[in-house]
Amino acid sequence: MSTFAELGLARPVLRAVERAGYTAPTPIQAQAIPIALAGKDVVGASQTGTGKTAAFALPIISQLVPGTQPQCLVLEPTRELAAQVEEQMKRFSYYRPLNVVLLHGGVGYGAQLEALEKNPDIVIATPGRLLDHMSRGALRLDAVRHLVLDEVDRMLDMGFLPDVKKIIDQCPRHRQTLFFSATMPPQIETLANWALTEPTPVEIGERRSPAETVTHAFYPVAMDQRNDLLLALVNETHFESLMIFTRTKKEADTLHHLVQTHCPEVKVAVLHSDIAQADRTKALNGFRSGEFDVIIATDLAARGLDVSGVTHVINYRVPENAEDYVHRIGRTGRAQQEGDAFTILSADELDYAKAVEFYIGQKIERRKLEGFNYIYTALLDDSPPKPRKKPPKGGKRRR
Ligand code: AMP
Repeated sequence: MSTFAELGLARPVLRAVERAGYTAPTPIQAQAIPIALAGKDVVGASQTGTGKTAAFALPIISQLVPGTQPQCLVLEPTRELAAQVEEQMKRFSYYRPLNVVLLHGGVGYGAQLEALEKNPDIVIATPGRLLDHMSRGALRLDAVRHLVLDEVDRMLDMGFLPDVKKIIDQCPRHRQTLFFSATMPPQIETLANWALTEPTPVEIGERRSPAETVTHAFYPVAMDQRNDLLLALVNETHFESLMIFTRTKKEADTLHHLVQTHCPEVKVAVLHSDIAQADRTKALNGFRSGEFDVIIATDLAARGLDVSGVTHVINYRVPENAEDYVHRIGRTGRAQQEGDAFTILSADELDYAKAVEFYIGQKIERRKLEGFNYIYTALLDDSPPKPRKKPPKGGKRRR
């Protein structure tokens, strides 16, 4: 299949796809759309940046028959992902006006309650807020025909599976369920067996290796010099937009302060789950628009978020979960753009570093930042230092 027209989508949806500027379906779209249009359940190994959202949104919008209650429910683990899906649903229903509502926590109930009174056709929600609305009697799921469970392994990580089960229980048995999860641990397999009916597996092809357009390296350093090396990397790298990943929220806040203090010419935002929703939206939108040059984030931002044009990624620590390495550095080098990813490595993280190398099936180069005043660490003897090309004087390029 090489064109959207061959996939069997409804005419207004095809026009909306054209309007979005998509010329050909991605592999997951080519595989999943005909199956979903046939009304079958799908279980897909999801990967970020593969076009998964359109793979479920297009066939659902094609089939949807508006009524007085929601016909489609999409569950997402985070508010940002939910907002991203809402945007795409609206984009693809441009010529078939449907009422789309977004429900997530961290904001007031008023506007959401008002939107629910207007008979939405499609509800995109995070599990907690959806249950709140259901318990207040503001929403029923009796008419749901299409249920999308997205990023299910993320929902498991975040402790949402009991809520997700409660929600599925309130949906009619006779429905189509589209289920996406990057990994299938036993709890998720059990959930899939229970929630799906004779699903067709969709192979998206797990991308274990980072995009070829991304160059990536470990920067070994003594523990005490971690912050100094981070600041040196920020100061000396020729970036347009930079994401810095931390393991914890506290670490993100500390680094936010550090970079703000020591790199006053850089505009930096912070994103993690303890930050008020309005500020999270401001940080992400500001980073997307170029108002902020740097965003410091926990893994909340590593998965799924569609931020284009990120030129550099720095991992302040080696991720504990090897898969997160690929997700994090996948923020750069998207859509064939060049990207650079640095991971600061100190001795206590060697096991994690090896796990990452094992996962991606390749050895990651160790680099030394030229001109940085290193104190001794045995890690630096591990491989001969390679000089790093210094950026032209004048620091980072401004957009
Ligand atoms: P997703 O994996 O759904 O988050 O999509 C990642 C990015 O790819 C989004 O910016 C989409 O708008 C874009 N995209 C999805 N499908 C296509 C397509 N067929 N052609 C061009 N861009 C696409």
